Amino acid sequence: MLQVSTRQALREALQAARAAGKRIGFVPTMGNLHGGHISLVTAAQQSCDFVVCSIFVNPTQFGLNEDIDNYPRTLDADKSLLDEAGVDLLFTPSVHDMYSDLELTWVEVKGITERHCGASRPNHFRGVATVVCKFLNMVQPDQAFFGRKDFQQLAVIQRMVEDLFIPCDIVGVPTARAPDGLALSSRNGYLTPEERVQAPQLHACILEAKARIDAGEMDYAAITAWAKAELEAGPWKLDYFSVCRQADLAPAEPDDRELVILAAAWLGRARLIDNLILSR
Ligand code: AMP
Repeated sequence: MLQVSTRQALREALQAARAAGKRIGFVPTMGNLHGGHISLVTAAQQSCDFVVCSIFVNPTQFGLNEDIDNYPRTLDADKSLLDEAGVDLLFTPSVHDMYSDLELTWVEVKGITERHCGASRPNHFRGVATVVCKFLNMVQPDQAFFGRKDFQQLAVIQRMVEDLFIPCDIVGVPTARAPDGLALSSRNGYLTPEERVQAPQLHACILEAKARIDAGEMDYAAITAWAKAELEAGPWKLDYFSVCRQADLAPAEPDDRELVILAAAWLGRARLIDNLILSR
């Protein structure tokens, strides 16, 4: 696996692949890689001939109260995982490569960013959309792969690519989970052993909410209240638990058919998110 760290070196490394007519797949990450990231690589390899992965802890998507300095950085282990998985090119730019000292241009997707994670993390999605736009412009992949685990993020990127006519196909990859149901996440590393045992409860609550909806429940506010009581009876602090329309992530109405249950909650130091799509 070739590793490059500058825009110029990236351009040169991609030239040969492009000249050979290869279909380029791109997997952006913040590192501290796990099986979820590798499932994106595998999906990319299934439809592309040349897979580029980036590792960049993006400062503009962290809030002032969020500890970017303590975000886990495990580059050597990440490189081994990507090499083993057969990634062709790893791009590891510095903050200086990605942002100017006085950044004047931002990509902001309105509407779908205001609720859920956007409500508790102001400017988070502006940082995500801006950095992903920069990466898509630099790599110019045929397809880019994102996890459905970050459902709202995937919706924001899909919308940005549509609105800005970015010629790249965005592919959503199903959530990779531990055998007990917990969605794999870099943030799981913040859990104590006791919290790790409790952590699958978030997914279990989402599954129970789905079962209630499948059984005919349409009072979605009651489902939210039930989930809050259930989780906060234990060690959790709920951020949101919401039955939404898939189309715009607004709270679902009884007539809506294509739904997604979105949830985020704190367990100790870890803010965990999860979701499930369903049709009625
Ligand atoms: P991150 O490094 O956390 O920014 O994530 C990089 C990419 O991996 C994003 O597209 C995430 O949605 C995706 N991802 C993270 N966890 C999982 C998972 N458990 N299953 C599938 N994709 C994931």
